[in-house]
Amino acid sequence: MDTLLVLAHTEADGTLSGAALEVIEAARSVTTRIGADPNALAVGLVGEKVRPLSGVASVYAVEGPEFAAPRYATDAAAAEAICRASSTSVVVAPGTSRWMRALPGVAQRLNGRADTHVMAFDGTRATRWCYRQRIEAVLTRAERPWFVLLDAGLPYQPRQGEPAIHRVSVNLPPLRTRFGGFVETKSGQQTIRPDADLLLVAGAGWTKKQKDGQTHVPEAAKLILDFLAVTRASLGSSKSLVDLSGEGQAVLPFLSHLNQVGQTGATPRHPKGLSTCCHGEEPHVVGWRFIRERRAINLDPNCGWARGKADVLYVADAFEVLAKLNELLGAQSQ
Ligand SMILES: Cc1cc2nc3c(=O)[nH]c(=O)nc-3n(C[C@H](O)[C@H](O)[C@H](O)COP(=O)(O)OP(=O)(O)OC[C@H]3O[C@@H](n4cnc5c(N)ncnc54)[C@H](O)[C@@H]3O)c2cc1C
Repeated sequence: MDTLLVLAHTEADGTLSGAALEVIEAARSVTTRIGADPNALAVGLVGEKVRPLSGVASVYAVEGPEFAAPRYATDAAAAEAICRASSTSVVVAPGTSRWMRALPGVAQRLNGRADTHVMAFDGTRATRWCYRQRIEAVLTRAERPWFVLLDAGLPYQPRQGEPAIHRVSVNLPPLRTRFGGFVETKSGQQTIRPDADLLLVAGAGWTKKQKDGQTHVPEAAKLILDFLAVTRASLGSSKSLVDLSGEGQAVLPFLSHLNQVGQTGATPRHPKGLSTCCHGEEPHVVGWRFIRERRAINLDPNCGWARGKADVLYVADAFEVLAKLNELLGAQSQ
């Protein structure tokens, strides 16, 4: 029978990210499904200082200042040492940029296989989308160890009980790479925040002629950025809005295709979403399927959101609503 290990790394502040905790929860349900004891779950942790994690049986910890920041050489060496020490056959890990870079190489070193962007895993079968969510593929693998990098999981439930901690030592190669820091998007504004409680979606209406017959793109940009700064919401967009730049029209400079939500874009998982100046057509709304509380602001009472796609539709001018919201929230001008 396969043995399962969750592999996670700490964030800069020493905590585990929401994605890592979700994967621990997903792994618990996998152990139940394959008939193993969910309390026997082993977790490998890599970071500068690993904090105790309750409710799991054992923790394989690699700690030290070299492991604080993402770097292929140290991350791969730490993951390899943990996998060897735990002799595990299936490794489940959050699909963070850090693990996405290091774990396929670790799989190669251990003569195993890695699958990324997996959205569901039942212990023997991994499910992932292909061709931008048009085809759903279900994979099995004979090779072990099998690294499964999950895009998403279940809400984490804290549990009682202290794990046995195994400190794993790592033989590091000579380090030629120094961690220099994080670089934000080109506008200097990080607008995609997967852990945010709220998703604000901007649609093409922000760039269209308004009731005075003029466009107001700079005002739109300011309203949106002020709102994001005060709420720390994540910014999504409709395809029409991010495509406008390709058509030579006035655009919001901080948006890229990475912000696009929908059938050919992302499927974010924020608890709440607020759509503004977006029509709510099906190819867009399909990207909202994991967003539980949905509200929309649109001038058109017959827009797509009115057809059962939003819990609340405010038939209003989004320029006016966001200006008022920013005022109430005490937003500082960006
Ligand atoms: C194969 C395929 C895949 C696609 N994939 C995606 C995808 O992944 N994501 C995606 O988003 N789309 C996708 N689309 C496109 C999608 O069908 C729509 O064309 C797109 O979502 C429309 O964007 P929009 O609602 O922002 O713009 P529009 O349709 O132009 O709507 C603008 C809205 O803004 C409102 N508005 C204007 N001014 C104001 C104001 N002051 N206050 C309030 N409301 C205002 C208008 O009433 C209007 O409803 C896809 C289409 C196809 C065919």
